[in-house]
Amino acid sequence: MTKCINCAKESRLISQTLGVCLDCIRKDYGKASEHIQKTHSAIRKTFGLPDKPPKGWSGASCEICVNKCNIPPGGKGYCGIRENERGKISGPTEDMAYITYYHDQLPTNCVAGWACPGGTGSGYPEFCHKKSAEIGYKNLAVFYLGCSLNCLFCQNFHFREELQNPPAVSSDTLLKAVDELTSCICYFGGDPSPQLPHSIAFSRRALDLKKGDILRICWETNGTMDPKLLSEVMDIALTSGGCVKFDLKAYSKDLNIALCGITNKRTLDNFSLASKYVMKRKVPPVLTASTLLVPGYIDREEVYNISRFIAGHDPDIPYSLLGFGPDFFMRDLPFTSKRHADECAAAAREAGLTNVNIGNYNLLGIEY
Ligand code: SF4
Ligand code: SF4
Ligand SMILES: [Zn+2]
Repeated sequence: MTKCINCAKESRLISQTLGVCLDCIRKDYGKASEHIQKTHSAIRKTFGLPDKPPKGWSGASCEICVNKCNIPPGGKGYCGIRENERGKISGPTEDMAYITYYHDQLPTNCVAGWACPGGTGSGYPEFCHKKSAEIGYKNLAVFYLGCSLNCLFCQNFHFREELQNPPAVSSDTLLKAVDELTSCICYFGGDPSPQLPHSIAFSRRALDLKKGDILRICWETNGTMDPKLLSEVMDIALTSGGCVKFDLKAYSKDLNIALCGITNKRTLDNFSLASKYVMKRKVPPVLTASTLLVPGYIDREEVYNISRFIAGHDPDIPYSLLGFGPDFFMRDLPFTSKRHADECAAAAREAGLTNVNIGNYNLLGIEY
């Protein structure tokens, strides 16, 4: 049981780290915001990351993502992967990235696997080798270290430790992993946004290598990138048969800042931009969305609002609700329960979405 520092309510659905309940974030954010900002700053300092996006320095500006960092001499950007070395930005390039990578047999547990060619055979024969799940083929999973957000529930937080000595992989090396049986590439992380110029340039090389063969290119992202880069991403996903999977953490701006440290305005604007591609190819879908059901914070109301936003662009955009597992700075919260997931799925359909999925349903927890 944790007591909300604002209203004194006690519940096991209040995160100890955040210290504030959902109602207080929604109704009284101003009162809780200072505590919330301090919480994020303290966590980031333990990993040697800037407590907020650095501003006010001239000469080393980065516009790759929403944070638009002005990096101080000898300092780092918010993502932790770009630095100011003698007035110039250093770090990953179009030909080198901080990544780890591996192959997964298809169908994978990809967040859009229930709607994409690799998992279902949709788009056969243009974008898929088989009429059903692409058994016998492989997905190349590329994990980008670094992230433009600071989610307290991060399910892949270890990359923050690896950033102390990041693995720099050349595109020549990565290209060797695009073999005969690789039929899709998934860029994820952390988040691919801070290293987007790399994944865009690498995709072009990989598509060239596989000319005349199937190679779907997909991104799983928090959607914080520069909109011009997003347009390039959407073009590549569209023409290759891949998809862009937006992780919509929250609809409320205050709740997004409380949970992830940064505004969701850019993400929502970018989702609107990406949705312009939906009609260009509905099957297989070029755009999908997902939301992690964080107990106590991402409730029915939040999912309803996210779903209404998605449905306002196109009701058929596939939407997946994901079960939360206690991790990072939200280890004291329980696993998402089946009832929570069912209620949220019903809310998503009520909001007008026609294509709603609950990921890993069998792994969901018992009641709270
Ligand atoms: S990378 Fe894309 S095509 Fe491959 S399994 Fe994941 S969503 Fe499907
Ligand atoms: S990618 Fe984003 S977080 Fe990283 S330095 Fe550039 S603007 Fe800052
Ligand atoms: Zn409260």
